[in-house]
Amino acid sequence: MSEFVLVINVGSTSVKADLINPTSGKCDGKLRIERLGSDQAVYSVNNENRGPAPSSHDEAIRTRLPELLEGKRASLVAVGHRIVHGGKIYSDPVVIDQEVMKQLEMLSPMAPLHNPVALMAVRAAVLLITEVPHIAVFDTGFHTTIPDAARAYALPTRLVQEYDLRKYGFHGTSHDFAAKQIAAYLRTDLQKLKLITCHLGGGCSVCAIDGGRSVETSMGMTPLEGLIMSTRCGDLDPTVLLRLQQNAGYGTRDLEYLLTQQSGLLALTNGRSDFRDIERGAKNGLQDCLYAIDVFCHRLIKYIGSYLAVLGGADAIVFTAGIGENSAWVRRQICDRLICFGVHLDDDANYSVGVTEDIPVVEITDSNSRLRAFVSRSNEALSIARSTHELLLT
Ligand code: ADP
Repeated sequence: MSEFVLVINVGSTSVKADLINPTSGKCDGKLRIERLGSDQAVYSVNNENRGPAPSSHDEAIRTRLPELLEGKRASLVAVGHRIVHGGKIYSDPVVIDQEVMKQLEMLSPMAPLHNPVALMAVRAAVLLITEVPHIAVFDTGFHTTIPDAARAYALPTRLVQEYDLRKYGFHGTSHDFAAKQIAAYLRTDLQKLKLITCHLGGGCSVCAIDGGRSVETSMGMTPLEGLIMSTRCGDLDPTVLLRLQQNAGYGTRDLEYLLTQQSGLLALTNGRSDFRDIERGAKNGLQDCLYAIDVFCHRLIKYIGSYLAVLGGADAIVFTAGIGENSAWVRRQICDRLICFGVHLDDDANYSVGVTEDIPVVEITDSNSRLRAFVSRSNEALSIARSTHELLLT
């Protein structure tokens, strides 16, 4: 009989649950709830729309998860929970008990959009599924190998220590998965590869990976630093915040809302946060959309260029997640600016890429390329299922 790990991944307005066979990688069922909490909430099981949508994360887990698990519970070996921030306490996956839940609660302020809802889902799932262990897998875990010099914020030691002010990095399961997937595709030992992985989804980050180890990444203490994202601004001169506080009456909560929910692509386009809409607008000549893509790509190329220096050259650039896998436009803008580093884009490949479960990696550079580029299908659920399963086996 097949064994399954149930992977639960919740965002501020979404719940994703996948039943994954960690050995074959096959998905045997998925539940999706998007735009949770709004009147446009959508709820589906195995891509079939169902209704009505639940109104909270807790309700989603309590009342909709049993539907996904119907007839499958006997094959369930564990539940893997994606937890964005593990702080200093957690890097490797850990079995969730009361103590872990208490610690996760204390870490909530480090990732206010992600950790509190994830914990809510953990609590509901632990009550619902009592027969198998629940395991937390941390986005920050992959980045524990980043050297201190790359982690440091140049602030007084007392403050750094007391408030834990340092780079953590996120999207770890995705960067790790992409790197392993590329090594498998190239039939090369991951230890011998230098890669720059670009996770470009709703949240975006770049990672420099040397021999399978993260050595630099664009997100920081929280998932706000670095690239421009759908509603997050990424890098900013901190004085901007002081100015808004002093001159525009912004308080802490206003600033947090501004930086995480009202900025990024949404702000640059005056209202569009979904990259599909932005690309469509740009193709129709809308200036806001063209401008937003230019700003987005400029920030990205700046990071890639600096990571080429950090790594002392690289074997490949890897594009993954919603925008990375689907936007030929972004890939082209980036690859064209890397010609000086030896990237030769294969235009046909770039425009016809469609990574699938069966073909998860496609090369988009031609045989003259010294620096190669790939599109890699992201599968955070499988990455979490594997980490969960590995812990069970130890
Ligand atoms: P998340 O899991 O962070 O929500 P995804 O990896 O699903 O993110 O990526 C979401 C982003 O990918 C959205 O901005 C969406 O518009 C973009 N995206 C999805 N499909 C396409 C496409 N065909 N072309 C361009 N962008 C796309």
